[in-house]
Amino acid sequence: MASELEPEVPAIDQSLLECSAEETAGKWLQSTDLTREVYQHLAHYVPKIYCRGPNPFPQKEDMLAQHVLLGPLEWYLCGEDPAFGFPKLEQANKPSHLCGRVFKVGEPTYSCRDCAVDPTCVLCMECFLGSIHRDHRYRMTTSGGGGFCDCGDTEAWKEGPYCEKHELNTSETEEEEDPLVHLPEDVIARTYSIFAIMFHYAVEILTWEKESELPADLETVEKSDTYYCMLFNDEVHTYEQVIYTLQKAVNCTQKEAIGFATTVDRDGRRSVRYGDFQYCEQAKSVIVRNTSRQTKPLKVQVMHSSIVAHQNFGLKLLSWLGSIIGYSDGLRRILCQVGLQEGPDGENSSLVDRLMLNDSKLWKGARSVYHQLFMSSLLMDLKYKKLFAVRFAKNYERLQSDYVTDDHDREFSVADLSVQIFTVPSLARMLITEENLLTIIIKTFMDHLRHRDAQGRFQFERYTALQAFKFRRVQSLILDLKYVLISKPTEWSDGLRQKFLEGFDAFLELLKCMQGMDPITRQVGQHIEMEPEWEAAFTLQMKLTHVISMMQDWCALDEKVLIEAYKKCLAVLTQCHGGFTDGEQPITLSICGHSVETIRYCVSQEKVSIHLPVSRLLAGLHVLLSKSEVAYKFPELLPLSELSPPMLIEHPLRCLVLCAQVHAGMWRRNGFSLVNQIYYYHNVKCRREMFDKDIIMLQTGVSMMDPNHFLMIMLSRFELYQIFSAPDCGKRLSSEITHKDVVQQNNTLIEEMLYLIIMLVGERFTPGVGQVNATDEIKREIIHQLSIKPMAHSELVKSLPEDENKETGMESVIEAVAHFKKPGLTGKGMYELKPECAKEFNLYFYHFSRAEQSKAEEAQRKLKRQNREDTALPPPILPPFCPLFASLVNILQSDVMLCIMRTVLQWAVEHTGCAWSESMLQRVLHLIGMALQEEKQHLENVMEEHVVTFTFTQKISKPGEAPNNSPSILAMLETLQNAPYLEVHKDMIRWILKTFNAIKKMRESSSTSPVAETEETITEESSRDKDKAERKRKAEIARLRREKVMAQMSEMQRHFIDENKELFQQTLGLEASNSAVLDNSPMVSDVTLTALGPAQTQVPKQRQFVTCILCQEEQEVKVESKAMVLAAFVQRSTVLSKNRSKGIQDPEKHDPLFMHPDLSCGTHTGSCGHIMHAHCWQRYFDSVQAKEQRRQQRLRLHTSYDVENGEFLCPLCECLSNTVIPLLLPPRNIFNKLNFSDQPNLTQWIRTISQQINALQILRKEESIPNIASSKNSKNMDKLQLPEGFRPDFHPKNPYSDSIKEMLTTFGTAVYKVGLKVHPNEEDPRVPLMCWGSCAYTIQSIERILSDEDKPLFGPLPCRLDDCLRSLTRFAAAHWTVALLSVVQGHFCKLFASLVPDDSYGDLPCILDIDMFHLLVGLVLAFPALHCQDFSGISLGTGDLHIFHLVTMAHIVQILLTSCTEANGMDQETPAGEEELAVLALYKTLRQCTGSVLKELPSGWHLWRSVRAGIMPFLKCSALFFHYLSGVPAPPEIQVAGTRHFEHLCNYLSLPSNLISLFQENSEITKVLIESWCQNSEVKRYLNGERDAISYPRESNKLIGLPEDYSSLINQASNFSCPKSGGDKSRAPTLCLVCGTLLCSQSYCCQTELEGEDVGACTAHTYSCGSGVGIFLRVRECQVLFLAGKTKGCFYSPPYLDDYGETDQGLRRGNPLHLCKERFKKIQRLWQQHSVTEEIGHAQEANQTLVGVDWQHL
Ligand SMILES: [Zn+2]
Ligand SMILES: [Zn+2]
Ligand SMILES: [Zn+2]
Ligand SMILES: [Zn+2]
Ligand SMILES: [Zn+2]
Ligand SMILES: [Zn+2]
Ligand SMILES: [Zn+2]
Repeated sequence: MASELEPEVPAIDQSLLECSAEETAGKWLQSTDLTREVYQHLAHYVPKIYCRGPNPFPQKEDMLAQHVLLGPLEWYLCGEDPAFGFPKLEQANKPSHLCGRVFKVGEPTYSCRDCAVDPTCVLCMECFLGSIHRDHRYRMTTSGGGGFCDCGDTEAWKEGPYCEKHELNTSETEEEEDPLVHLPEDVIARTYSIFAIMFHYAVEILTWEKESELPADLETVEKSDTYYCMLFNDEVHTYEQVIYTLQKAVNCTQKEAIGFATTVDRDGRRSVRYGDFQYCEQAKSVIVRNTSRQTKPLKVQVMHSSIVAHQNFGLKLLSWLGSIIGYSDGLRRILCQVGLQEGPDGENSSLVDRLMLNDSKLWKGARSVYHQLFMSSLLMDLKYKKLFAVRFAKNYERLQSDYVTDDHDREFSVADLSVQIFTVPSLARMLITEENLLTIIIKTFMDHLRHRDAQGRFQFERYTALQAFKFRRVQSLILDLKYVLISKPTEWSDGLRQKFLEGFDAFLELLKCMQGMDPITRQVGQHIEMEPEWEAAFTLQMKLTHVISMMQDWCALDEKVLIEAYKKCLAVLTQCHGGFTDGEQPITLSICGHSVETIRYCVSQEKVSIHLPVSRLLAGLHVLLSKSEVAYKFPELLPLSELSPPMLIEHPLRCLVLCAQVHAGMWRRNGFSLVNQIYYYHNVKCRREMFDKDIIMLQTGVSMMDPNHFLMIMLSRFELYQIFSAPDCGKRLSSEITHKDVVQQNNTLIEEMLYLIIMLVGERFTPGVGQVNATDEIKREIIHQLSIKPMAHSELVKSLPEDENKETGMESVIEAVAHFKKPGLTGKGMYELKPECAKEFNLYFYHFSRAEQSKAEEAQRKLKRQNREDTALPPPILPPFCPLFASLVNILQSDVMLCIMRTVLQWAVEHTGCAWSESMLQRVLHLIGMALQEEKQHLENVMEEHVVTFTFTQKISKPGEAPNNSPSILAMLETLQNAPYLEVHKDMIRWILKTFNAIKKMRESSSTSPVAETEETITEESSRDKDKAERKRKAEIARLRREKVMAQMSEMQRHFIDENKELFQQTLGLEASNSAVLDNSPMVSDVTLTALGPAQTQVPKQRQFVTCILCQEEQEVKVESKAMVLAAFVQRSTVLSKNRSKGIQDPEKHDPLFMHPDLSCGTHTGSCGHIMHAHCWQRYFDSVQAKEQRRQQRLRLHTSYDVENGEFLCPLCECLSNTVIPLLLPPRNIFNKLNFSDQPNLTQWIRTISQQINALQILRKEESIPNIASSKNSKNMDKLQLPEGFRPDFHPKNPYSDSIKEMLTTFGTAVYKVGLKVHPNEEDPRVPLMCWGSCAYTIQSIERILSDEDKPLFGPLPCRLDDCLRSLTRFAAAHWTVALLSVVQGHFCKLFASLVPDDSYGDLPCILDIDMFHLLVGLVLAFPALHCQDFSGISLGTGDLHIFHLVTMAHIVQILLTSCTEANGMDQETPAGEEELAVLALYKTLRQCTGSVLKELPSGWHLWRSVRAGIMPFLKCSALFFHYLSGVPAPPEIQVAGTRHFEHLCNYLSLPSNLISLFQENSEITKVLIESWCQNSEVKRYLNGERDAISYPRESNKLIGLPEDYSSLINQASNFSCPKSGGDKSRAPTLCLVCGTLLCSQSYCCQTELEGEDVGACTAHTYSCGSGVGIFLRVRECQVLFLAGKTKGCFYSPPYLDDYGETDQGLRRGNPLHLCKERFKKIQRLWQQHSVTEEIGHAQEANQTLVGVDWQHL
């Protein structure tokens, strides 16, 4: 048992180390029976090296294997030291020009959309960058692993097959040259024999199936008694199941179990127990028992350790072979020969065959090793690639069947190599011709789908789970079919023709099994009980779509093939539907004197199927006959006479009628499955081989029929024949008045039928149907998509059908029809339709869905109105039909059609209730329009002497015939034009009448004299005038109405404002308060503004009124009134950190008194600036909390905010907040006493303060010894000389109201709690420190943002920032009033002591380790606690000023000490000025104090420059700080951008602009201070180079730099392997944008424990890098990830855009992506502004599903 717990490393057997490779090889060279000799060696040594314990030791094993096992092989092969032998071979080699780089998982691959023969042809990054394709249109993807670079493969590329690197090798190499000529004879012979033995050994042992017995020649005498319990991978059980089971079965920890499971998943197997047979067997039975309940059990074997050892070496050996053949193409060829040589057992006995045929029995790891070997050997050798292809094809059926029954993913099956073989055009053609590959693939596929119905059709409905599983897997065969067909032949041999047609036969068999599958019957009465299975059939159809198209493409390439295929297809269709008239009495239909016979069939009563692939294939071929003109060239070869048009149209027509009836609501009881089927039937993924082909089939059939006959059959199928054939069809209502539903239904059916007629005549954009080319077709699609609305590139691509190469062809035409509009900072680039293309818009475009159609109609009408045109949307002018389809136009002028038109118009004229619909009329108008356009075209293009037979205008001018004698169509239109209920269609009717007249004119001018023209024109003219007047009148009415409404509106608005006065004032009030401080410059315009000190500019008191957003009550901000608060969010921050590895280690002990200048962890406060009453907020917060707790109990859901941590959303803007800041007046004014006396200078002041501190310390000491205090108190007090006017017993009264005091404590505690991550404790002495720190840190971070963006310090700051800083500063200044006076005094003393030496503190940091701004804020804000007991007359302002000067001096020294170490060689430009001399003098003093360790610098100019630059951030922060503290407005000069800010800042801060003069003025004290600062031991260490220090100015932190081209990121990530699981590629490599670390996210391997919870690598990283907040880039997904804490996160749009201005989250489209700097800047700004958490909050509020994501596992 012990061995299982502690991994002991067995000592290395000495005999192994002594084994000499050279000697062994020498022995082998002498041997007569090499095989026996080698086997004995292996039998002896392999078990000594591998599998010596429960856990593998890969490094040791590899080392020994190389030494003992592989070394001899290499010696033998080279015949000398391989260190010399292999380089020799390498040199002699003429390397191949194939790249062949095998892709790692996640590696970027590139495919050229212009030159790749098919999309599977890819390049590695290196080859791509060196190829011509980098300037072409390319696509980038990440490899799923497997597959290799096709660089150098001339068959893969139409152009530029070589990159620069591989081109070099092609110059002299002859393709046919035998690589063996470059090898010495003896090497060939030895290689041959050693390869043969070793390859054989590896195959034998890997395919060995016995569990405890070795092959005879590997058995040894002494055999250990150790076994492994080996667990194998399957795709059925989940990670969790395996982990759980293992913990039970082998008694391991969860960590170990995770380790086992990870390895099993990766390698396919892992031993989980080691020991004797019994021991392992026991574990096995537990595992099997535990996993066999629902599914088949996990596969477990108990294997003898020596078998596992040999197998492990077998794998090693295969990799070794793969690397050895890399030295020479000759060696590679020998290996190929060895592998493909037929063994003793004949057929299928070669080593390669044996491996392939055992593929599904091998575990994952073994498979991938030998697949890789195949790729680097067989597939890299042009000669053997062919031979291997033949072997692969011969075994195809077996391999695929193995794959289908196996459960591993396709990428782990040898069957997956098909993509490498079949996509090579020459191989594919050879395999088709010689191995009949097409037929084999299709037959294999069909064999796996044996379950059929009585008619032999597929029947997916009754599939068992197993059959469904097989069906899913067998679909990959369709992919193989696609590979084979993807490159089309340029030349046809007879053999290819014959075998292709044989394959075509098989394919027809397949389609025949689909023709009519999944038939449905309309459900009447009851709703269906169970939704029938429909997806399988559609999956099949969808997968086959491209194959069907490609079959047609192949046929189109050869006339003979096309003719044969056409015949075959027709024959099969006849077989399918031959008997469709059987058994039925034909019925006769007749209208308008035409009659036709047909069958009695009702879609609504009998079976109907949506699957008609055979008909549709025939339709496709028929179009090809027309397109290629074969139909006219060889009519005698075609079975045109056998075509029966009624049979051709019957089934497609039924299918279309089904759709119409579904729309009419007749199939509601058939459930959603039918709705889905109809959806996919029209969907862009399927329509090309479904709906589109049905239309073509109808066009085909109708073009061969009398249109009257067709229309009657159609009426009958639509079940509308009765309506239109009855003599007074107009009265249909009376008889059916009781069935309103039926009337409605019929209306819809009539509409649908008219739509179908429009499509049959109007859809001529398929090449072969109309006289168009492919470009016209795609243009038209795009025009219609963009007619709906402007679209982004990806949106447009999605709406267009893709071909098998994933191309839509859109790029080539888009420029012609659309303008591109670039994207802004958000959103996408958009294509907009060019205005001139609008005339090609067809309202009845057949690919519009109902919704799209109405959107497009609306958009187009709106456009017309904007252009002040009439709003008619007449049919566009169409291209002519191809001759084969030309007769279709006659539908429009056929008698039955005219009858239908007349009937509908008649209904409209009579206008009786619901018997007709406007859509119906609209369609009839459209049809009339089409007919007119047609006639016009005919007239315009008519040749001399020809008679135009299209005479629609004449026909509609004639009145109807007896018996009803209805008026002519024209007359009815004229009537309708003035019908008030047809306002919308008026423009269209007018357009028709106008066109009618134009045609009439054309006819007359071409024939005889103009007769009645004038009259017509007049009527038209007059009607137009009348119409104009009418419009004017209407416009006037509309204007009046509008005015009236406006008046009403403004009245209402006034009323509303009266009622909601507060609300409006509040918004105004807020604005005023925001600008108050900045904008009161007029009153002080000519005074020099000073923010501090005795000379501080006096600001008149301002009263500030604010309104509570909750109760809308207004209130003045006053010391004694109720508290007003701002919603605020406090968070820890590392945004300014210069040392990310440092964090707060132990929050309980952490002392925040001094901030280190690396700013490693600060506390940031932000606010949305919304103001509430403290009590209103309290009420709101309590209710939120109560509500959330109830909700969480009920729903167990996270929310976007964490109530338990005090989080809430601002009630107005929903901004995430976790506390509130009280709103205060400038607090200094309250405590500033009048100053009577002269104010002390710095030296005096320091002395006074030191005395006061001293006194306090003595007092404190006494208080801390209470037992003796009472007796000795007075005595000590005597000894203590109290400085004059200092009254330590005085305790000032807190001026604030209770409510404000409470809020001071609330916010203080919140900052303390969040900043230190501790439990709230309002009495902790660190509370005031945290408040001051947060104030300082927030100011620093805002100063950074302003500087980085080159914005002026006091420029227009966003209100919320301004409000936040003001309240934060004033709060921090007032907080001491609620803290213990002695505590604050204590802080002050210690802070003060860090600058003015005092013996009583031993642990103070040196000045290099203090952030001076934090120190300044601390000192200034703590000072009142001391000052309030000082009645000597020194003003608070004097104190501020001296503190500020003192800290500034310390900062200057700090800068000089740290930034002068590196002198740059810049020369002085101007003669030395006052400042420069002064700074030189100061520097000299420093050198003296430091003992001259400081480098000598000659240039004062340089020193002064670095002081000025270094101190700027400090001065700016100080200016902000004092500005908000005192309320003194900033001088106008620093409110705008400019360069002379330094002087103005100095003035404002009451500093001399020669800063060094501070030292000179106070020379007395200066010397002492400098000495004490410089002689600190840490400073010395620094100057001696023993430690680092921060230098100034600190550079701003930015997010890491990102590369311009996204693929270099992918490449970087693909080289990244999981840091925890030994070189394994990470599945979700994720880049920290803050520090650039790559992490292995979202996986078990890298989970760590954080605060007792397992978290993913990203979450763990945020805690060390961003104190809980993180910004990441998920490289594989191209997605930005924001994380905050463990439960919050969201995805954010990445800063990478393609050329169309779109992001590609998930990298699905693969367009090249480039960095968008502006968007990246935006992310950076979010980070710098500490808005990441807020952004997450908004995202989660907007999208609740984000709340449920387990962000902590990422
Ligand atoms: Zn390459
Ligand atoms: Zn290359
Ligand atoms: Zn290219
Ligand atoms: Zn209120
Ligand atoms: Zn707010
Ligand atoms: Zn990081
Ligand atoms: Zn990992």
